[in-house]
Amino acid sequence: MSRVYNFSAGPSCLPLEVLQEAAAEMTDYRGSGQSVMEMSHRSKDYEPIIQNAETKLRTLMNIPDNYKVLFLQGGASTQFAMVPMNLYRKGTAAYVDTGVWSDKAIKEAKKYLNVDIAASSKADTYTYIPENVSIPAGYDYAHITLNNTIMGTRWTVLPKIADNAPLVTDASSCILSEPIDVTQFGLIYAGAQKNLAPAGVTVVIIREDLIPETPLKGTPTMLTYKIHSDNSSMYNTPPCYTIYILGKVLEWVERNGGTEGMKKRNEEKASLLYSYLDASNFYRGTARKDSRSLMNVPFVTQEKDPEKAAALNKKFISEAAAAGLVNLAGHRLVGGMRASIYNAMDISGVKALIAFMETFAKENK
Ligand SMILES: *Cc1c(COP(=O)(O)O)cnc(C)c1O
Repeated sequence: MSRVYNFSAGPSCLPLEVLQEAAAEMTDYRGSGQSVMEMSHRSKDYEPIIQNAETKLRTLMNIPDNYKVLFLQGGASTQFAMVPMNLYRKGTAAYVDTGVWSDKAIKEAKKYLNVDIAASSKADTYTYIPENVSIPAGYDYAHITLNNTIMGTRWTVLPKIADNAPLVTDASSCILSEPIDVTQFGLIYAGAQKNLAPAGVTVVIIREDLIPETPLKGTPTMLTYKIHSDNSSMYNTPPCYTIYILGKVLEWVERNGGTEGMKKRNEEKASLLYSYLDASNFYRGTARKDSRSLMNVPFVTQEKDPEKAAALNKKFISEAAAAGLVNLAGHRLVGGMRASIYNAMDISGVKALIAFMETFAKENK
């Protein structure tokens, strides 16, 4: 069997053990005579699968009992609308703009309420996380993007909120990468396809008291937290198979030391790669040092001529792919290279990448 090192920003690599377990159970799940793909979501075989995913997530993230865990569809992008529709109280929310995904969340929220930009790093092409952000009182909620997948930055010091307005975060690209204090947030949402599972399920962790009886007028049933919460994510057919794989990924995280184990693993990988970039006179990382992500590492060469730089990037990406290091192109909006080193990426992948980078630098000086 030949597997590549997949540095994709998402969907991204899954632990090999998880894929192998799923393969072994593919046509006959534990004597049921069926694949999990074929089961009724209300069957006695499926019920423990979704329960296991929720229990494991609660344990790993230390989610308090007054928070609901919902397994929804539509990706993080649907949460951009669902959050304002359900958390609307007086009609104004504060957003911090730290990248492309924040910007999308802001644009969507503006359809439903007033948005004040509490802080932004847009003027500096989103290369950092604003410091000492404080949110004045009076907002329905405040929203941040905890890890900026495209720009490669992450929050380490959360904004201060003057009153007790809930902090909402998009944690799509960093959930389970290190411990998160859930009690600091009113709502955490994450699309699965970075650190959790294949695409198809969106995890929402919401403090119970924030779920309104009735959301904003006109909110579709499927975008109503209360509906999903009251029906334990079974109002309609949930993304059954993805939730099954999620359970397996969570078991893998558990076997590997939980979120503390992931943090250690991720810090080791990130520090190897960042140290290499910092010492290099051929490459450089693009995010400001104090804001660097553990999960997404964007970098460029130091070539100043734009045309030569673009040609070099192209060469790097194609030669890397030929060497079994795939999906290293930066996001189409920012160019350059990006290595996404989510939980499932083994340190051997980062070492292989650095070895390739070193050879490429020597050959292209
Ligand atoms: C990938 C990503 C999204 C988009 O997720 P979808 O599930 O495709 O909607 C949103 N926010 C962040 C931070 C992401 O990394």
